[in-house]
Amino acid sequence: MKKLLFALLHAAGVTRLAAWRNRRRVVFLCYHGVTERTTRAAHDPHGIHVPAPLFERQLDYLVSRYRVIPLSEYLAARREGRRLPPYCAVLTFDDGFRNFLTAAAPRLAARRLPASLFVITDKTADEDDAGNDSAAHDALRWSPADDLTHLSWSELRALAREHGFEIGSHTCSHSRLPSLTPAETERELRDSFAAVALLAGEGAPALSYPKGDYSSVLARLARSVGYACAVTVDGGANDPAHTDPFALGRHLIGDRDDRAAFAVRVSGVRDSLARLRAACRRLFPAAARQPRAEVRLRAGGTTEHY
Ligand SMILES: [Zn+2]
Repeated sequence: MKKLLFALLHAAGVTRLAAWRNRRRVVFLCYHGVTERTTRAAHDPHGIHVPAPLFERQLDYLVSRYRVIPLSEYLAARREGRRLPPYCAVLTFDDGFRNFLTAAAPRLAARRLPASLFVITDKTADEDDAGNDSAAHDALRWSPADDLTHLSWSELRALAREHGFEIGSHTCSHSRLPSLTPAETERELRDSFAAVALLAGEGAPALSYPKGDYSSVLARLARSVGYACAVTVDGGANDPAHTDPFALGRHLIGDRDDRAAFAVRVSGVRDSLARLRAACRRLFPAAARQPRAEVRLRAGGTTEHY
């Protein structure tokens, strides 16, 4: 049903119109992994690993309509008060799954597209555990284990230095930050910052809030630790001049986002529909049958993993 609605909206040109209206805002997309599997795996109930052919179609859609820029370019434009060209997009990948290296990176590199990776530093393997500098080998092939395991520090170094991917923090343990004590929260932000700062080059690293949970207190703490910005999973169109850099929105992309669904999400139509639904709920509270969190999950994306 939802697929049909998206197909109709796309065919009717609604996505094109919405994309035009949002052309001055920068679209941020949140991926987790890219897989060579042809069907969703049992360990991926929420569909966070996008099949490679679908990922390629999504990238080609972006290439045909958007200019994909590094997150650092968005931040530089904001800092310098510089206006970016219309139809810009930023690609991000959360959790640091190894399939970024074996399935996503080659497809991004083939199109010369930049991306940011947000890694969970406690899950990032030490050099010895990961074996040799496998990132340097062109023949590196995806294996099913790559959808479950995480990149090593040496692989991240190669991705950053040799391929220009930007590495940020997704905290140390991927815990819901609002559920931790202030001291634990600060340690999560500081220790992961120190670990990824070594890979961030000259600029300060960015932060991705685990599960998208954030607050003004967390945003202030992230800023004081030294992060350049922080990304959420609320919406996905950001205005360099107006959006709080510590509450940057992202559109979640899942494994069922065909061309129409992807276009609806990227254009901002999906957000508009979610806002419309929220407004209806406020106007007609008796008709609201689901708890807010569940509605947000369905409106915001295919995954609760983040
Ligand atoms: Zn995550």
